[in-house]
Amino acid sequence: MQKKFVPFAVAVLAILLILFAHIGARLTASAPAFTFAEAEREVYLTFDDGPSTVVTNRILDALNEENVKATFFIVGERVHGREETLKRIAAEGHTLGVHSNTHRYDEIYASDKAFLQDVSACAAIIEATAKVKPRVYRFPGGGKHKKKAELLRGMGYEIVFWNAVCGDEEIPNADSATLVQTAIDTAKGKRKVVLLCHDSAPHVPTAEALPEIIRHFRAEGYAFKAF
Ligand SMILES: [Zn+2]
Repeated sequence: MQKKFVPFAVAVLAILLILFAHIGARLTASAPAFTFAEAEREVYLTFDDGPSTVVTNRILDALNEENVKATFFIVGERVHGREETLKRIAAEGHTLGVHSNTHRYDEIYASDKAFLQDVSACAAIIEATAKVKPRVYRFPGGGKHKKKAELLRGMGYEIVFWNAVCGDEEIPNADSATLVQTAIDTAKGKRKVVLLCHDSAPHVPTAEALPEIIRHFRAEGYAFKAF
């Protein structure tokens, strides 16, 4: 660069800097919504098939520790002898939902009448024990069950499906690291995640995986919600 061009280059640079600063200030002032994408992400942790004595209480401990609320879809017959655990779920601010009274598919889905009896029996146990009226429902074994879903909605229930799993039922004998990774993989790219987990007796690795699953979603900017 020749000597006489140096002051010229400095002047052009200065003008450009002033211009960019001006545009930058305008952009910042008009774009407070740049953070909205983060706040929009939400994750619902859901636990089916409990209550169980050890696993449900360990899951409640982890949720407490991380200050996260979750949703538990209850099997009515499993409440007997675990009434305190059911009460604890409600007392700690989590949502109790109906899953089934028996969890025996052949009986539940035998007819609409049998189905509704199963739902009512489970709801009655929840209400009598925890003193809360359940208003959310999850079909045992999944599926849409259009007509039954309509009947339930008519009774005031919200039907809850899922779009991510930790894999505790899908992957035989999965360890906690596998469950964490499966939750991350199946939730990837979803703004609203409904994560299916299980708190019935065999699922100790689910309780072990939970703190890391929570930390992952927190680090990704998800808000934790319960139904
Ligand atoms: Zn189930």
